[in-house]
Amino acid sequence: MSFQREQLPDPVDYFTSTAGLTLQGGKGKWRTTRCEFHGGSDSMRLNTITGAFVCMAGCGAKGGDVLAYEMLASGRGFVEAAKALGAWRDDGHTPDYKPSPVSARTMLEVLALEVQITYLLAADLAAGKPLADADRERLLVAVGRIGYVVGEVVHA
Ligand SMILES: [Zn+2]
Repeated sequence: MSFQREQLPDPVDYFTSTAGLTLQGGKGKWRTTRCEFHGGSDSMRLNTITGAFVCMAGCGAKGGDVLAYEMLASGRGFVEAAKALGAWRDDGHTPDYKPSPVSARTMLEVLALEVQITYLLAADLAAGKPLADADRERLLVAVGRIGYVVGEVVHA
């Protein structure tokens, strides 16, 4: 085995140090950050345990681990990206790599925040409170993101 998955860097270290991202959102395993792939300010969700990442803005950036992120961000192939992350042992074997898929569970987890925002704003509306413009815009963003993720899961 030439690829050493257990040698992949810790997702938080990788995303903050190597990828240079600022992680927002304090609790839980999911964090929010800027999507470097299309320039969205708060659309990228990162899993601090598995390294999975999903852009909620529909630019198509997603993957199951930090290696997939490195490949996407650097444009390197699997072997070069694994070497760059220190997760490659040169033992002459032919690389055998299947990208970690983004599971339906992962997609459902990234839905949770958008659903929560939608729920809270809907509750305000139901209570007769008018929405501020910023809240109204955020609600539309959340609805768009929910539609995108549902589409990804249904067509996966
Ligand atoms: Zn994006």
